[in-house]
Amino acid sequence: MIKVCKFGGTSMADGMNMLRIKKILEADPARRYVVVSAPGKRYGGDSKVTDLLYETAREVKETGHVGDAFARVASRFRSTVRELGLDFEIDALLSETASAIERDPSADFVASRGEYLAGRVTAAMLEIPFIDARNVIKFANGRLDAPRSYALVREALKGLRRAVVAGFYGEDENGRVKTFSRGGSDVSGAIVARAVGAQLYENWTDVSGFLACDPRIVANPVGIDALSYKELRELSYMGANVLHSEAIFPVREADIPIRILNTFRPEDKGTAILPVSKYRPDGRTVTGIAGKKNFTVIYLEKSLMNAEIGFAHRVLTVLAQHGVSFEHMPSGIDTMSFVIDSEELKDGVLEQICEEIRQAVRPDKMNVFADIALLAVVGHGMNRTVGTSARLFQAIARAGVNVRMIDQGSSELNIIVGVDNENYDRTVKAVYEEFFGRGCA
Ligand code: ASP
Repeated sequence: MIKVCKFGGTSMADGMNMLRIKKILEADPARRYVVVSAPGKRYGGDSKVTDLLYETAREVKETGHVGDAFARVASRFRSTVRELGLDFEIDALLSETASAIERDPSADFVASRGEYLAGRVTAAMLEIPFIDARNVIKFANGRLDAPRSYALVREALKGLRRAVVAGFYGEDENGRVKTFSRGGSDVSGAIVARAVGAQLYENWTDVSGFLACDPRIVANPVGIDALSYKELRELSYMGANVLHSEAIFPVREADIPIRILNTFRPEDKGTAILPVSKYRPDGRTVTGIAGKKNFTVIYLEKSLMNAEIGFAHRVLTVLAQHGVSFEHMPSGIDTMSFVIDSEELKDGVLEQICEEIRQAVRPDKMNVFADIALLAVVGHGMNRTVGTSARLFQAIARAGVNVRMIDQGSSELNIIVGVDNENYDRTVKAVYEEFFGRGCA
């Protein structure tokens, strides 16, 4: 039995927390391979080491030398090593790292040093080998080269009973360090799990798994015991921030379950994420609710749009030419809407896109709605339960909220509802109450 354990930033934040990691690993000999994040925040208002490193990259670009931000990084690693009482040459490693950063101040390289240093210290604490992710996780054309990475990780870990692998980064075809997007150590953990054929990928974090909705909006929402990979993808893409939304791809190919666990409450059972084949829904209609604010909807109307071949294609070409991706595209016979993250439309991009769409498809009407929030109601249970959408929309109506947009994925796994930003919290509360309130299923 092999378990791969990934520990997030809070678990790595200081020596005390890292000792918890040691205990967790000692409690189960199957926990053989460990993937680590850079140290995160120790308390509210503290900085994540990764953020300090991005700051370091800016400092070095401006002055040619590491400055205050790197000094803070260094002092965190020094105190962790001291707290752990390790006989480890941290000063030498830090000055070597500072010189390497001054030679290569690219944001990716500098940011990756958080996981690199964290991995070195963890390996020293556990007295097991350290694997530099740059040698085993490879990118090609800007994307993960999965087959090559699996083979290299497998080769590097062959014959090692236990090892620590640095999360978050790898190396591209030109030999330069490249990172995943933020939170990417989750992806590294999944790659290692897939490469060694683990039976379980344990993702240790600072919460006891997924909750049915955002606890900042609803106090003490119920926890989710089990999710399918598909439900996870929907929820994490829509803002449930427990796991990187790309972390499932490597493990999904090999049906490796993930378990989200809490380093600070290791006895909690957390959330299991399972392939659909092994997933037994617990009878609930809705598994979870997630959402995000700040979308823009471009609404187009044109008589006989249905018969106009290539209409959507022409609009999408305009978006593609601006490098803008769309989230949803609800349509009617003579109407079509494009829902886009407002971030992508800043600095005049929206106005330019609208003008080009006007020229490309000559719509009868074109409206732009800004400040829209999207709410995703997710659950396999919805496709076998009659009346789910009626319940959903009645609940939203009772809350006095006007629905601006509806999109139901063809898998019937989710229903997306668009409301004004200002009504978002009210809508989440109403929907939660409807499907999870006392006595509901
Ligand atoms: N340290 C990186 C970040 O803060 C990656 C990670 O923690 O997964 O995004």
